[in-house]
Amino acid sequence: MDLGIKGRRALVCASSKGLGRGCAEALAEAGVDLVLNARGADALQQTADAIREAHGVNVTAVAADITSAEGRAEVLDAAGEIDILVTNAGGPPPGLWSDWGHDDFIKALEANMLTPIALMSATLPKMIDRGWGRVVNITSQSVKAPIPQLGLSNAARTGLTGYVAGTARQVAAKGVNINNLLPGSHDTDRIVALETAVSKAQNVSMEEARKIRWSGIPAGRYGTVKEFGAMCAFLCSQHAGFIVGQNILLDGGQTNATI
Ligand code: NAP
Repeated sequence: MDLGIKGRRALVCASSKGLGRGCAEALAEAGVDLVLNARGADALQQTADAIREAHGVNVTAVAADITSAEGRAEVLDAAGEIDILVTNAGGPPPGLWSDWGHDDFIKALEANMLTPIALMSATLPKMIDRGWGRVVNITSQSVKAPIPQLGLSNAARTGLTGYVAGTARQVAAKGVNINNLLPGSHDTDRIVALETAVSKAQNVSMEEARKIRWSGIPAGRYGTVKEFGAMCAFLCSQHAGFIVGQNILLDGGQTNATI
């Protein structure tokens, strides 16, 4: 399917690895020029080179912390006018409700709620002026059903979801579509840490820990970054103009809910 976005320009945040990279690859495959971002310059440069070579699109790499005001300013400055924004950043650490104080919440809200909001505030006006834009926020399945040990993430991402629900409806008539993608368990570096935690807690091998995690997913496996990227590219496509303020769950059926 021709996604109808060849020649468009996208900023994909936190995209040297994992889900962000999957989104960048799929957009590049559709002919979109990219601005990529991550903190680590080496991995970011390698990803930028690989995507440029594979897809022949223009790729600019900006090494910066997207959750800091200075980092965001640097990234937005290099990005210039963009048609597509994919927001992403690392998630907050796990713990118990009693572990977290005011500063922990501020940090999580800054990273996973206020950063994507700041990026939208900075880029929506030009999208509206041009009468076309797409925003995809990478959030989490924890928005649909809470993951108890991820209280910081549950709180920050739900706040972002509320903001998107209203804002998406304010800009939809201007040709700008904002939606969220909710990953369940995907095969990225982050999964290794989660499997290590299961392996230690239950005193089982890493292979057994993986099987334990898979047993809770009706699809019987993790999602791939390619599948995730394909859905992101579709939400950024010409065909997604009637999808407004939605939360698309990609979790292999793990969230046990009728709708
Ligand atoms: P990942 O494989 O660890 O990749 C994270 C990417 O983000 C890397 O490129 C990393 O590069 C970059 N990054 C992290 N913090 C950043 C920052 N402050 N500024 C700029 N770049 C930053 O992680 P992932 O699995 O793709 O997860 C992406 C997001 O989805 C996270 O918020 C995660 O909590 C959420 N999520 C993931 C899953 C899953 O199954 N994978 C499930 C639910 C939710 P640098 O470290 O070099 O900056």
